[in-house]
Amino acid sequence: MNYQAVETESEYVARLETGADWRAEIEALAAEVDADAGWFTALGAVQDAELWFYDQDDLEYYPIELDEPLEVASCVGNISWLGEERFAHTHAVLSRPDGETLAGHLDAATVWAGEAHLRVFAESLEREHDETTDLDLWL
Ligand code: ZN
Repeated sequence: MNYQAVETESEYVARLETGADWRAEIEALAAEVDADAGWFTALGAVQDAELWFYDQDDLEYYPIELDEPLEVASCVGNISWLGEERFAHTHAVLSRPDGETLAGHLDAATVWAGEAHLRVFAESLEREHDETTDLDLWL
């Protein structure tokens, strides 16, 4: 395990724009407030979504495409640098009208309505490719 102390530098709340991409909105917020690292939670609803499931045998992400309105019952993630870009690693629990849930790594989703809370850390976090998992993990 690698770890480091972090201090909260600032916190923001934001309303995500209807029709925009869910993850891109969070990355835009991080860029706007110049966040080198952070942690966020969010909730709301989306018009569609693409979740990814990481297969630990194949070392591949497999997409789960959902073309339907869904509630974002819970969304959690973090901000760190991936190469030259701020990456919002985003996971979500989405729900259907009957309450059935679908969950996973959220790659993309079209915002219907969204509210986010971002905690910005004073420190910077970076990702680097990890040989064992074939994932981009924190240094
Ligand atoms: Zn993930």
